[in-house]
Amino acid sequence: MMATVIHEHPSFRAAPMLIGGRRETCGRVLDVIDPYSGQRVGTVPMAGIEDVRRAIETAYAYRPRLTRYARAQILERVAALLRERTEEASDLISRESGLSKKDLRYEIGRVADVLLFAAKEALRDDSQSFSCDLTPHGKARRVFTQCEPLDGVIVAITPFNHPMNQVAHKVAPAIATNNRVVLKPSEKVPLSAQYLAELLYEAGLPEPMLQVVTGDPREIADELITHRHVQLVTFTGGVAIGKSIAAKAGYRRIVLELGGNDPLIVLEDADLDRAAALAVQGSYRNSGQRCTAVKRMLVQRSIAAPFTERLVELTRAWTFGDPFDEDNEMGTVIDERAALLFKSRVDEAITQGARLLTGNTRRGALFAPTVIDRVDPSMTVVREETFGPVSPIIAFDTVDEAIRISNGTAYGLSSGICTNRLDLIRRFVDELQVGTVNIWEVPGYRIELSPFGGIKDSGLGYKEGVQEAMKSFTNLKTFSLPWG
Ligand code: NAD
Repeated sequence: MMATVIHEHPSFRAAPMLIGGRRETCGRVLDVIDPYSGQRVGTVPMAGIEDVRRAIETAYAYRPRLTRYARAQILERVAALLRERTEEASDLISRESGLSKKDLRYEIGRVADVLLFAAKEALRDDSQSFSCDLTPHGKARRVFTQCEPLDGVIVAITPFNHPMNQVAHKVAPAIATNNRVVLKPSEKVPLSAQYLAELLYEAGLPEPMLQVVTGDPREIADELITHRHVQLVTFTGGVAIGKSIAAKAGYRRIVLELGGNDPLIVLEDADLDRAAALAVQGSYRNSGQRCTAVKRMLVQRSIAAPFTERLVELTRAWTFGDPFDEDNEMGTVIDERAALLFKSRVDEAITQGARLLTGNTRRGALFAPTVIDRVDPSMTVVREETFGPVSPIIAFDTVDEAIRISNGTAYGLSSGICTNRLDLIRRFVDELQVGTVNIWEVPGYRIELSPFGGIKDSGLGYKEGVQEAMKSFTNLKTFSLPWG
């Protein structure tokens, strides 16, 4: 039950700031609250601008010289440690995020994958060579390439929704490329970032390669983005903050992975049981808090009724509640404020003509999986990103209309398509304005190695995924030698 008075959780953790391997405490702290119980599960230091400068300067002063083998070994060791400690790590993340143990065991597996892929990529020779005698004015020379770490520091700013995996996607490729990072995790879930950092140190990471600063972004974010030693800002989070970072970053590289409003498009030839199973997974896993969660269901009108019936049935069976109860698929959303926002958006849609089929109940930060149909694309619940377990159904008649509705928001992250019609699949792949089109999968499907990221308001088109992140974290130098 939600507590009204804040009590400390039995496994309360007062985490330090991590700068250059020193574990520092701070006069001011931020409380980390369990969204389910309302208990205080820990505190983290509230860094000031001076702490941020020290973190960046410590990182900048250090020049990593780890061999490829050493980098791969560290990353592999952490993957193994994390797998061994899956229960401890997922307990910690669950306490600060309210996500279910089920979701978090899966997340730990993903983090281990990120680490393993980064280890393998570190071992891969990324140089190229080009003969120069290819044309009539060629020469007997050869051009070679090599990837070098950035001279400046990488600042990584991460969101709350995948508390450890978002951090891993920035830190592991940075280590694999011999870079130095200052990480600022979400103030809502900072303990899992601290935990991963401690594991990396335990596995032998030179400590100045990773600093973790926590605090109030209003106070420290600008310094993180504009300090003269920062060369690249990699940010995952909401559109408004991403755009404000872009405006401030100036002559620095930026990688922005922003919000999404992804459709699952179900056509009349689809196997409806299979489509409905994907729909609930896409909509409710991780409490619907994935940038690539299914946030709109575009369903061909001729099969809308039987699809909706199946969706409602599966939604009612989607168990939710205590995140530690093994029977629950879903825990809470990130906080009560978020749950109130989802409810108000669904309520607004209902007053505008949508029909509530199940859910839309709230207790504290618990929000029931919710299905509404008769949704119009102009309603806020689907026009904006609704970052929770809500399934709004929009009916369409023609494929042209489905593509138009799908492309009709500011976002362009990913999509899922349920059809076997090859001619139509081709059209969706070509015409959807998104970074990813998954046929017969949820929009969130990916492997941690493959390119991932959005266009339009979802991102600038630069991708993440271990391989792409490593590219953006390096400078490509060419040199040529006088032999062919
Ligand atoms: P958020 O934008 O509120 O916060 C993200 C991070 O930005 C946090 O660490 C926060 O402290 C920091 N921040 C806050 N103010 C800042 C400022 N002025 N300058 C710099 N940093 C600042 O996002 P959130 O609520 O934590 O996460 C949810 C959002 O993230 C959703 O929109 C979701 O779609 C998006 N997301 C995108 C991807 C992707 O890969 N495209 C992945 C996961 C989440």
